[in-house]
Amino acid sequence: MIKVKVNCYLQPSFLKNSLTEDLIFMSNLDSLDKIVSLAKARGFIFQSSEIYGGLSAVYDYGPLGVELKRNIRNAWWKEMTQRHDNIVGVDAAIFMHPKVWEASGHVAGFNDPMIDDKQSKKRYRADMIIEQYILKLEKDGKTEKAAELQELLDTSGTRKSLTEDLYDIIIENEIKAPDSGAFDWTEVRQFNLMFKTAFGATASEDDAVYLRPETAQGIFVNYKNVLDTARVQVPFGIAQTGKAFRNEVVARQFVFRMREFEQMEMQYFVEPGTDADAYKEWKEKRIAWHKSIGIREENLRFADHPQDKLAHYALAAVDVQYQFPIGWQEVEGIHNRSDFDLTQHQEFSGKKLDYYDQKNNKRYTPYVIETSIGLDRCTLMVLCDAYREEEVDGDTRTVLKMHPNLAPVQVGIFPLIKKPELQELAHKIDADLREDFSVLYDESGSIGKRYRRLDEAGTPFCITIDFDGLEDNSVTIRYRDDMSQQRIPVDKIADYIRAGIKDWKPE
Ligand code: ATP
Repeated sequence: MIKVKVNCYLQPSFLKNSLTEDLIFMSNLDSLDKIVSLAKARGFIFQSSEIYGGLSAVYDYGPLGVELKRNIRNAWWKEMTQRHDNIVGVDAAIFMHPKVWEASGHVAGFNDPMIDDKQSKKRYRADMIIEQYILKLEKDGKTEKAAELQELLDTSGTRKSLTEDLYDIIIENEIKAPDSGAFDWTEVRQFNLMFKTAFGATASEDDAVYLRPETAQGIFVNYKNVLDTARVQVPFGIAQTGKAFRNEVVARQFVFRMREFEQMEMQYFVEPGTDADAYKEWKEKRIAWHKSIGIREENLRFADHPQDKLAHYALAAVDVQYQFPIGWQEVEGIHNRSDFDLTQHQEFSGKKLDYYDQKNNKRYTPYVIETSIGLDRCTLMVLCDAYREEEVDGDTRTVLKMHPNLAPVQVGIFPLIKKPELQELAHKIDADLREDFSVLYDESGSIGKRYRRLDEAGTPFCITIDFDGLEDNSVTIRYRDDMSQQRIPVDKIADYIRAGIKDWKPE
């Protein structure tokens, strides 16, 4: 979704309803600390280039993280393509013709208004500074003043320019920098969020290309290719997962807001007039998917974008929000993009991008319903929703109660002690299960310690092989969520796990 500053004096995107919580989020970063520590300690997520001090808002996925992320991506892909016979996939390149970003509006309008504190040299989103100040006024009971400023913020861009109006509000109200407390601001400037790079060995400024800020455009420019080759008919969808890059001004929220991230997007092409129904249908389908990957219902909600604050291309927009430890935040956006994108690309490329409906002998440019979710943000949601601390025998057990289908390791296999006969049976069970499940063999440390390690990895089933089992060909299987243990025959293990995965419900 474009941040829309093309005509932001009409509809500044930063005024959208999630802003308030965004600020609360920023000021309570500590509450993500436990997730950040666990993610690092267990090998889910590391800071990029950590040995060099890290690179801001860029993250790497470790051995557990890469599996979790892949499982989420696979769950999304299966839902969007395998379960729909009219949705196909593409994998477009990150580099695209520069004109794409002119047509989409990103060159002119993918901006955030930023302001620098000259003393601390920290950079802020100017609109967020004002919104934070309004929140403080409200908290202090100065509701009239807060409403007056909110009105000024809402109408920014109508007095002078957007940047000047924001600057005036900050200066006239003597709003201080949140970190240093200084009142020593630079001007407000528009900051384009696209990363620019040079293309080719003898590149000049004219050869500049961008790292794509969203995957959607790769779908639009392939609309005709897919139409011509995939034997699809409107309504049909094109799905894609892949990296996107945004030079975010404020990016201090772990993988919630990154400068390099992954998106999973699906554009659904429909006949104009049927778009409102399709939009409704995709809203329901998408929230159902979030529940199907085990996210607790009470932590999910829709947040509609008010009509007067929609992006320039959108007829309707809604966020799927998740209640992170730090407030309700967008995880996914569902938008009715009208025929904006195809019309723009038609105009800029000079190629016809309409659709001929043979059955009804009519021609039209399809409308697009978009579902757009961040894979990293979704991974963070899964980690947050799964995270539990429980008191067990006077100790604290940290456990990730995530959907067994998402768990990076589904089955732990532990010989009770390092004895060849136990190891032999353990290796045999390991080899049998490995074809169908992700398995980890672990023989070091006490059984209790091994359980705890895999609790923190979100492993739902742990199998212990002991001497009794050598006699009667049985094992103990321990279930992550309630730590219950059961004795079962070796040849029933796979069925037991399969049933456990199928019947799993979030607590
Ligand atoms: P936000 O308001 O949080 O900046 P957005 O409205 O700009 O998000 P979209 O352009 O609609 O987001 O992108 C779709 C999805 O991509 C978002 O719902 C989010 O999950 C993800 N996303 C967007 N920007 C980032 C980012 N900087 N880091 C991680 N994920 C992101």
